[in-house]
Amino acid sequence: MTEELFREDATLLDCEATVVWVDDAGVVLDRTVFYPQGGGQAGDAGTLTTEAGAVLVVADARKHKERPGDIAHVPAEGADLSAFTPGTRVTARIDAARRRAHMRFHTATHLLCALVPHPVDGCSITAGYARLDFHMNEPLDKEQLTTSIARLVAEAHTVSHRWISEAELDANPGLVRSMSVQPPRGQGRIRVLEIAGVDLQPCGGTHVANTADVGAVVVTKIEKKSAMTRRVVLGFAVMAAG
Ligand SMILES: [Zn+2]
Repeated sequence: MTEELFREDATLLDCEATVVWVDDAGVVLDRTVFYPQGGGQAGDAGTLTTEAGAVLVVADARKHKERPGDIAHVPAEGADLSAFTPGTRVTARIDAARRRAHMRFHTATHLLCALVPHPVDGCSITAGYARLDFHMNEPLDKEQLTTSIARLVAEAHTVSHRWISEAELDANPGLVRSMSVQPPRGQGRIRVLEIAGVDLQPCGGTHVANTADVGAVVVTKIEKKSAMTRRVVLGFAVMAAG
């Protein structure tokens, strides 16, 4: 079971760890700062470096399919794994720019959830864009949504997470907004993400600490995916030169 350091502190960029398992899925460490793809959010990329200086380029991070609770650091194609045997001490370091983009977009998707009061039935967060599918048939206005997101960013709301019991969640069914991604059950506790005064929902992803850190995000596209699905795509605003 990999200790998930990113759940408590999304700002950690590196950590010391020990290799516990290596197979076709990748390298499993006892602890990591790499977020594995999940909840719509893409996995982290980065490097693992041994004390002797051998470097493994990690292209992605995934939940290990055969080892529940383990996180596989997926090597880049053609990578040499010979120095990464079980017991090896390594420094795990994520690609900070890629993670930062994930955190900004992920937090922006929560703002979008607060602005569009309909259930979400799909979500994808990458370093280049984020998209949310809403279960609704009413029209959405691109400019108006962009302006509303910018307002919530400018208002600088605090973003924080906490753990609640399943009993507490059951007593507050309104906490569950997503139709497709229900909070994980059976572990006794659920991680909830709160944007003070704006949004509260179960979420295991990585977020910025304040909506001000979302920066300039714009709605780039609104698509009618089906009769009851409206897809909203977010991008980073491109600053005008000069
Ligand atoms: Zn989230």
